Amino acid sequence: MTEYEAVIGLECHVELSTATKMFCGCRNEFGAPPNTNVCPVCLGHPGSLPVPNREAIRRIITIGLALGSEIAPHSLFHRKNYFYPDMPKNYQISQYDLPICVGGHLDVEVPNGQGSRVGITRVHMEEDTGKTTHGSPSGRIHDADAALVDFNRAGVPLVECVSEPDIRSPEEAGAYLRELRATLESLDVSDVRMEEGSLRCDANVSMRPVGDTELGTKVEIKNMNSMRSLERALAYEISRQTKALETGEPIVQETRHWNEDAGATATMRSKEEAFDYRYFPEPDIPAIEPSAEWIEELRAALPELPRARRERYVAEHGLKDEVVRVLVADRTASGLFEQTASLGADPAAAANWITQDLAGLANKHGAEAAARVTPRHLVDLLALLGDDAISGAGAKQALEDVVETGDDIGAIVERRGLRQVSDSGELGAIVDGVLAEHDDASRKFRDGNESVIGFLVGQVMKASGGSANPKLAQELLRDRLQG
Ligand SMILES: [Zn+2]
Repeated sequence: MTEYEAVIGLECHVELSTATKMFCGCRNEFGAPPNTNVCPVCLGHPGSLPVPNREAIRRIITIGLALGSEIAPHSLFHRKNYFYPDMPKNYQISQYDLPICVGGHLDVEVPNGQGSRVGITRVHMEEDTGKTTHGSPSGRIHDADAALVDFNRAGVPLVECVSEPDIRSPEEAGAYLRELRATLESLDVSDVRMEEGSLRCDANVSMRPVGDTELGTKVEIKNMNSMRSLERALAYEISRQTKALETGEPIVQETRHWNEDAGATATMRSKEEAFDYRYFPEPDIPAIEPSAEWIEELRAALPELPRARRERYVAEHGLKDEVVRVLVADRTASGLFEQTASLGADPAAAANWITQDLAGLANKHGAEAAARVTPRHLVDLLALLGDDAISGAGAKQALEDVVETGDDIGAIVERRGLRQVSDSGELGAIVDGVLAEHDDASRKFRDGNESVIGFLVGQVMKASGGSANPKLAQELLRDRLQG
């Protein structure tokens, strides 16, 4: 039987977090009351003229430089003509054959797999459309009795990043998107929130027999709103196309919609070709011609990118690859880590607490609550743990309390009685009391019944009201029984 491989390319849309929109002075903000950030330009009134946002151009050049693209000395805006009810001009100002950034690559690390290099075809600048909300339980158009249009998003600067079809699996696609998000986050150009739509991703998928170099018929998948839905949708589509190829069913070139609840893709429309859009140069905007000096200035100002940061964490702090991958994928987490380590905490311990316990608490209580945890909290927590003044379980409780209240570690430890008795004099007196009360158990231990030590430790814990350091209690018990 023929074996098939998937050929996947991703088109990612990134809303820039500039103060104003792409071609007018309206504010660019998420969540404002509908139709409050609008003006004649972004509403497409006749006679209004677009003026490109210099800061948005700076940001897309920065993105291109971070991805290793060539920055075009001369690029053009084009009109892409199509009708959407939430696109007032009936064309979108985009770029066509002369994008600002050409070529490049992103090196990705697939979890439990090898690293790979995914080529970047182009990165171009365009504007977002408005947003239509369908008044129906499903949120889809077919059973809606009303549609509400909000033009606040119309004209928001949008960067489209197109990858080469170099991706071969859903996991690799997920790794690519995570790396792209981390890169954009480090550049501080976008909120990159998939749940708010500031990072969106479409995928082109085709299948071909392993060893073939020709591409099969490709299908575009839309509406994947999270990393998880990207990977699920690709897995579904790969299996659907493989079955079609095996049974000789034709694969249609089309756009398919991912339905998260159904866990399946469904036909949305047949695929448009570029000529359907009647691209022509935007007559109201001159060519974009950034000077070589400006480009070099922006190149020199690039921050440390995620890949370099991962390598540094491994080299400087000896952290494990999988810990570093989780840490660097999230700017808040890596910022917290750097500050905690710089205050003198053990880097490996800090990294583990941030990527495991704190990440778990962020899932449970929300990211905002988890943001109450400061470097100082972690430094204090790790110091108490290191001195055996609190147990591992006690430290977990204290951290959850910080997430809930933001209080100091010291105050929480006192309030919850988490301090454990690790003073051998104080604990020794409790141990002596327990041994005096349980003569029979002591005798059993001396006769070779080692397991009775667990019972005795339990008695010490009980006698101390749960505050004894169990490790030290066991040591003291053994000392006395063997001595
Ligand atoms: Zn406007």
